[in-house]
Amino acid sequence: MKVQHVSVAVLWLAHVPRGIAALDQVILKDASVTPRAPKNVAIIGAGSAGSSTAYFLRKYSKQRDIPLNITVYERDGHIGGRSTTVGVYGDDQNPVELGASIFVEVNQNLVNAAREFNLSTSGIRELHSEGPALGIWNGREFVYTQASGGSWRDTAKLFWKYGLAPLKTVNLMKATVGKFLKMYEEPYFPWKSLSQVAYDLGLTDATAFTGEQFLEKNGIGKLFAQDIIQASTRVNYAQNLPLIHGLESMVCMATDGAQAIEGGNWQIFSHMLAAAEANVYLNRTVDKVSKLDESAYVISSKGTPIDSEQQVFDEVVLAGPYQYSNIDFDPEPRHLPDSIPYVQLHVTLFTSKHKLSPGAFNLPSDELVPQVVLTTLPPGEHHGNGAEGVGSPGFFSISLLRPSMDTRGNRDKLEYVYKVFSPMPLNETFIANILGLAKDESVSEEDVSWMYRKVWHSYPYEYPRVTFEELQLDDGLWYTAGIESFISTMETSSLMGKNIARLMVDGWKE
Ligand SMILES: Cc1cc2nc3c(=O)[nH]c(=O)nc-3n(C[C@H](O)[C@H](O)[C@H](O)COP(=O)(O)OP(=O)(O)OC[C@H]3O[C@@H](n4cnc5c(N)ncnc54)[C@H](O)[C@@H]3O)c2cc1C
Repeated sequence: MKVQHVSVAVLWLAHVPRGIAALDQVILKDASVTPRAPKNVAIIGAGSAGSSTAYFLRKYSKQRDIPLNITVYERDGHIGGRSTTVGVYGDDQNPVELGASIFVEVNQNLVNAAREFNLSTSGIRELHSEGPALGIWNGREFVYTQASGGSWRDTAKLFWKYGLAPLKTVNLMKATVGKFLKMYEEPYFPWKSLSQVAYDLGLTDATAFTGEQFLEKNGIGKLFAQDIIQASTRVNYAQNLPLIHGLESMVCMATDGAQAIEGGNWQIFSHMLAAAEANVYLNRTVDKVSKLDESAYVISSKGTPIDSEQQVFDEVVLAGPYQYSNIDFDPEPRHLPDSIPYVQLHVTLFTSKHKLSPGAFNLPSDELVPQVVLTTLPPGEHHGNGAEGVGSPGFFSISLLRPSMDTRGNRDKLEYVYKVFSPMPLNETFIANILGLAKDESVSEEDVSWMYRKVWHSYPYEYPRVTFEELQLDDGLWYTAGIESFISTMETSSLMGKNIARLMVDGWKE
């Protein structure tokens, strides 16, 4: 029987193009062979890491014709984790990013997924044609401003003030990104150890030092670092250069092709899970993971009803920071991730008919405040972490995102949507000040018509380090969030998911 199959196959294969041949050989299986039992994988968390793990698991297992069941448990009621939107005025048709808002052109997992799922992307919008698009405020003055669309004047201003530092920074950033991109390619991909691959690619040369040290070592002037690069590390990671490591500082400068998915970046992850044909349980919290033997885990979870409160899996992926998962592992895995400090970031969204007040930024009353206000520390001011690290400016960034028509109750008012990042909750005095309202007045609904506050554990404090968490905590138990101390972005979480998916499928014997 086998001989007959082969000869039919050979005859038929002679008439099909090469690419299809490999695929069709799979169909010519010996009917006497019992079908393989499917692999059962549980993924805890439906953020970028969990969704990407599921998506690539399905891809790789299909390539190897391995039957697979994927179950995703998500504590929240939505897919996306720290990538999520809220509706301005509570209107879902008017979404704004509450967490991760931007990815860039070298983020190949996200860019490819957006293309595959036909999701529209938009660049960063600039609002006013006059007036600066961006300014860097040190609590006393704007140390740098940039016009809409950038101009030769801005470029000339940069070189006049900072010499060759901007050019050197671009070159250093490109060299660093070039090393990082090798993590997607053989012979490095898939990597079993993040510490090893970071070392092999020379990226620990950047993670071992603070941003300040790394820039100095590479001959980048202090003033440019303090004014421009630090503004970027503060808006992206709420951290100053003497703390955040060199690699993450460089990531902040890799802004080419900045984009976002129209309507919300979370849609990438929702589409990934659909493509993975995963069973997704939202509002379902995993509270215990028990190891039965070498290759079986039982997951206990609570929340919205599912078929069974306890389910058995061959492999489990914890796709979010261990310390916030509140999962009891029984027995304790061989490697337990360290608890590491995360930034507590206050994100405040609000709408107002007022533009930002020039007076709040020591500008003459007839000047426009930049649409995006980033911050840095004034000369001589040095600060540590958290609330203290913010220094004189008192906030990390204020962005005027877009105009918005408030149509509630027939108000038909043109307003502006603002987003503020700060280490503390914004109080009324702060809001009154930036909107130019009298300081002793309370902020009325007339002035701020809608507000939404969220406190995130947004990303780790990126202290210099050269070793990173294990990817495999135990046999069949995987962990994605160790990559956040290396680089914390949607793309790197996705890359970790892809890498783990590949290692897992490679580990399944033929
Ligand atoms: C305000 C803010 C701005 C940011 N800006 C950007 C940006 O512009 N660009 C960028 O690339 N990145 C940005 N980031 C970082 C980015 O959001 C994260 O690096 C990335 O989204 C992390 O994805 P993840 O899947 O690893 O983790 P998460 O998104 O945190 O996903 C983990 C998921 O696991 C779930 N979970 C945890 N424990 C359990 C449990 N016991 N049971 C069930 N489910 C559980 C959680 O609910 C969560 O949904 C930003 C983050 C914040 C907060």
